[in-house]
Amino acid sequence: MDDVITKAAATGRADSTGRTGIADRVAADVLKMVASGDIEPGDRLPSERRLAEKLGVSRVSVRAALQRLKAQGFLAAVQGGGTRVVKAAADADPALAELVRLDRSNLLDLMELRAQMEIWAARKAALSATPDDLIEISAALNAMNSDAAPTPEDKARADVDFHMAIARASHSVVYRHLLSVVRETLTEMLKYHRTVLFGSPADDRTIMTQHGDILSAIESGDPTKAEDAMRRHMTWTRDHYDRCGRD
Ligand SMILES: [Zn+2]
Repeated sequence: MDDVITKAAATGRADSTGRTGIADRVAADVLKMVASGDIEPGDRLPSERRLAEKLGVSRVSVRAALQRLKAQGFLAAVQGGGTRVVKAAADADPALAELVRLDRSNLLDLMELRAQMEIWAARKAALSATPDDLIEISAALNAMNSDAAPTPEDKARADVDFHMAIARASHSVVYRHLLSVVRETLTEMLKYHRTVLFGSPADDRTIMTQHGDILSAIESGDPTKAEDAMRRHMTWTRDHYDRCGRD
């Protein structure tokens, strides 16, 4: 019986019990949580029991819904029990990291693509950041000053956090998923930046100033200013690749 429900749920066909209809609704509700960003890529879902309580349905319906979302590739089982939201194309991440490691021109491509996305995200963030988002961005900015982040690794991580906070403030769940796919590679990239490209205290100060400009432009709610501030940051970074071209 369970099998029938699961199969019907997986294909979206209604069965005579009407449970599939409920499972459909539950699946849609769970997807909405993911789509709205309430649950982030990689996050664990609440337990079946809690979801059932929250949505006012039976655990059987929740299980059918989750099984269906797993079949569709949105969710994955967690070892030892539970379910998590799949990082979109998570498998592409190691491949991407490898491509970037193998060939410097791939790193440059990724840097340039990233620059375009970041400029777009800064604009969106200026239009849609909430007071909480702004607090988060400025906390990430503070965590980047040299006392709080003494090593290149610390700085790279704090830098990624700053850009992830802007991604959250963009309120684009698609962008967040995209960024989460490249997050590891991005951290590697920024570690390379901090170690090889701009390791000097003067570079640190420049980056802090540029990040500060981005934050205040987003705070002022001016999309053009935010876009410009991010473009300056990205162009400056891109220029370093040319200057350090032959290592
Ligand atoms: Zn940055």
